[in-house]
Amino acid sequence: MSEVFDAVVVGAGPGGEVAVSRLAAGGLRTALVEKELIGGECGYYGCIPSKTLLRGPEAQAQAERVAGLSRPALDWPALRDYRDVMVRHHDDSRQVEEYRKNGVEVVKGSARFVGRDPWTLAVGDRVLAAEHVVLATGSQPVRPDIPGLDRVPVWTNREATSLREIPGRAALIGGGPVAVELGHFLARMGCEVTLLVRGERLLAREDPRLGEEAARLLSADGATVLTGRQARSARPSGSGGAVLELDDGRELTVDVVVLGTGRRPGTAGLGLEDVGVPVDVRGALPVDDRCRAAPGLWAVGDVTGRPAFTHLAKYHARVAADTILGKRRVRNDAVHPRVVFTEPEIAAVGMTPAEAERAGIDAAEATVDLAAALARPWTFDTEPHGRLSLLADRERRVLVGAWAVAPMAGEFIHYAVLAIRAAVPIDVLLDDIAQFPTYSEGFLNALEQLEL
Ligand SMILES: Cc1cc2nc3c(=O)[nH]c(=O)nc-3n(C[C@H](O)[C@H](O)[C@H](O)COP(=O)(O)OP(=O)(O)OC[C@H]3O[C@@H](n4cnc5c(N)ncnc54)[C@H](O)[C@@H]3O)c2cc1C
Repeated sequence: MSEVFDAVVVGAGPGGEVAVSRLAAGGLRTALVEKELIGGECGYYGCIPSKTLLRGPEAQAQAERVAGLSRPALDWPALRDYRDVMVRHHDDSRQVEEYRKNGVEVVKGSARFVGRDPWTLAVGDRVLAAEHVVLATGSQPVRPDIPGLDRVPVWTNREATSLREIPGRAALIGGGPVAVELGHFLARMGCEVTLLVRGERLLAREDPRLGEEAARLLSADGATVLTGRQARSARPSGSGGAVLELDDGRELTVDVVVLGTGRRPGTAGLGLEDVGVPVDVRGALPVDDRCRAAPGLWAVGDVTGRPAFTHLAKYHARVAADTILGKRRVRNDAVHPRVVFTEPEIAAVGMTPAEAERAGIDAAEATVDLAAALARPWTFDTEPHGRLSLLADRERRVLVGAWAVAPMAGEFIHYAVLAIRAAVPIDVLLDDIAQFPTYSEGFLNALEQLEL
């Protein structure tokens, strides 16, 4: 006998949690299926532990550049303990309890489709049926096809964010935000870090100047960044580590290989093919502008193949849940913040100049050296470094892109996020009054330099 619900949410990462909470608050009889922990990759092995770990070395380095302070000691066991608190010691019993108190049926296990009309899922020996199913099954790390990699110590984001000891030497494979953040953290914690980047630069999705900023930061940390390089093979080293043979013939001996090689949408094993729901070549579940994959079937977050960010998963969940609840919502997720939590932070939103050119936009760009232009960098830091760049559409007189490298850039980039999403006229932005002395004042400097 199947148990019947109004909506079943599969996956309890940030997307699934927002979806089920909203649906339950809207009065629907809901079930939440999770095969591991309520909180998902973000809560236990992604955003939360990585940002918690990065904060210690960040504050330490910042303090070194504050007048009157000297470098504080970093207590690794204490930082590690706090990371363990932040990941709830991998115990979600309180979350399960909370959902149950709020009327959500929490089902622990792996869900697989066994029917449609209505959508029917098997979870262990239970069968759940619902008019609406929201898939929020996230993504899994991609393992590169390097012969011998299965014979050496390899960390995905899971082992890297759960680490107990700092390795002596690590090779990071990949050049995206995850590899940059993990490399930055490990290098600042005293590990000898080498990044192997297949492409010509770090942060390939971003303006090339941001890749240069990331490389500069990593080099200042003592890390080595090898671009245009790949590992051809791996073999165990005598000391329990790994020897990577690179494609230029060099060998790199490390204690651990850390993968930052991207993620694959989590559709494997869901049985979508059995119920006639196609996935794309990457295994992603394409959705329409309401986050609908098929009538009554919704998908949110990483599983959709959209950029892998928690804020996108949560946004999709709001769109899908509100639509199920009968509200009019349209997915509009092209413009969203993209922050790399280095010190200083690297933040971007919207288009790069190359993307604007490809889109046929007549664009004007202005880049400001924040330390040269503003007071705040100097009250904040004795050796400030920061840049802010704006990209505007001359014809529409609105911003279409922005990036910043500065302390708290991940916070103040939201000025540009809103300006781009809402197409705020540049003349309105020029009349804005920013608090003195703040980094946000840089927007006026950059706006005034745009040649429109
Ligand atoms: C190291 C690292 C750092 C990151 N830092 C950031 C950051 O700072 N900011 C940011 O915005 N993003 C960050 N991300 C990305 C972010 O973690 C993801 O985009 C986000 O977790 C996606 O949320 P989601 O709800 O789609 O899926 P997930 O968080 O992956 O959750 C999916 C859940 O579904 C469950 N599940 C899967 N299949 C089934 C099944 N068949 N049955 C039952 N349950 C199932 C899984 O167990 C999991 O709990 C980071 C990622 C990594 C790896």
